[in-house]
Amino acid sequence: MALIVQKYGGTSVGSIERINAVADRIIEYKEQGNDLVVAVSAMSGETNRLIALAEAIKPNPKGRELDVLLSTGEQVTIALLSMALETRGYPARSYTGGQVRILTDSMHNKARILNIDEDKIKSDLAKGRVVVVAGFQGVDEDGNITTLGRGGSDTTAVALAAALKADECQIYTDVDGVYTTDPRIVSKARRLEAVTYEEMLEMSSLGAKVLQIRSVEFAQKYNVPLRVLSSFQEGEGTLITSEDNIMEQVQISGITANRDEAKVTLLGVPDKPGVAVAILGPVADAGIEVDMIIQNVGADGTTDFTFTVHRNDYNQTMEILNQVKKDLNARAVEGDDKIVKVSVVGIGMRSHAGIASKMFSALSEEGINIQMISTSEIKISVVVEEKYLELSVRSLHSAFGLDEEENTVNT
Ligand code: ASP
Ligand code: MG
Repeated sequence: MALIVQKYGGTSVGSIERINAVADRIIEYKEQGNDLVVAVSAMSGETNRLIALAEAIKPNPKGRELDVLLSTGEQVTIALLSMALETRGYPARSYTGGQVRILTDSMHNKARILNIDEDKIKSDLAKGRVVVVAGFQGVDEDGNITTLGRGGSDTTAVALAAALKADECQIYTDVDGVYTTDPRIVSKARRLEAVTYEEMLEMSSLGAKVLQIRSVEFAQKYNVPLRVLSSFQEGEGTLITSEDNIMEQVQISGITANRDEAKVTLLGVPDKPGVAVAILGPVADAGIEVDMIIQNVGADGTTDFTFTVHRNDYNQTMEILNQVKKDLNARAVEGDDKIVKVSVVGIGMRSHAGIASKMFSALSEEGINIQMISTSEIKISVVVEEKYLELSVRSLHSAFGLDEEENTVNT
């Protein structure tokens, strides 16, 4: 007998029919002798609908009252799912985040979970009940309702699994697992049988939007085996786990592409101490996050300084740089918001030499110019012209042997 935490996302509970199907699936697991704790999202579209209501009153709504509003979406689904279970003769109990006591900090709209009181859940499980918990929400020390940020139900599920020391945390969603790359770009993309927490974190922050990043961090910290599965089709999904649990190592697990980037360059800045902070200080002060940074070797006492920011921050960054240009007496400011970042990710990079040259040669064979490069222990990213996004991803996917028919599975 195992203790399983399951999470069902918005599309999985998007209608009464689907809620009934979720109830049936839970019962299947229950019948196999497992204990079940289930976290659910709001019905699909509901959180957006609630945000739109708030926006109709006040643009850009934030804070405490927004959390009171948004938390209602999940309260609907926990009640309906519990009713569906009880109707089928399976005792269930629904709880809001505050009722289980998912204690969070007081950062409204993006709170972090501090503690979960598992006693109530355990005593319900001991009585044979299925416990259904509202995702995405908690309560702070003073009893204020908080929410965990968009996609936060994933984190609720993982936190429950960690607190209860569950055998597995299953995330049911509308895709059947984590893929080697976006199947909309490469039709030969494959579902990965398993991937490490580290790789998943890199892939998520580089643009693969399968799980809330916080949930993967949480799973890694508490070593919770995490499985992404489809609620619409049968299959093993993708297991996200620690390196020790993955048998066969591949060089590269995934290729990601991110369109949200823009590049800015300050040309001819003095090559002397304090210049980097003079450039990036005002950018940071404006709350703009900087991603890749390159400073060239100086010549004639001056150098060029290039970095990337989120595309939404492009115009503001250009304004700031034009001011910095005057302050530093730099030669010119240049910018380009038609660039993308393409990355290869894999823990295999640590033990395989030549990944970077393989990547660069695949791109050069397609005549794709690399504008910037950055690396970490398990990833190499390049900036290329936006029009080459698909071509870059496709050629890398095939160069690293990830295409469907060339490769067997990854565990
Ligand atoms: N309902 C919330 C959202 O749409 C939380 C979640 O689904 O994970 O972001
Ligand atoms: Mg979600």
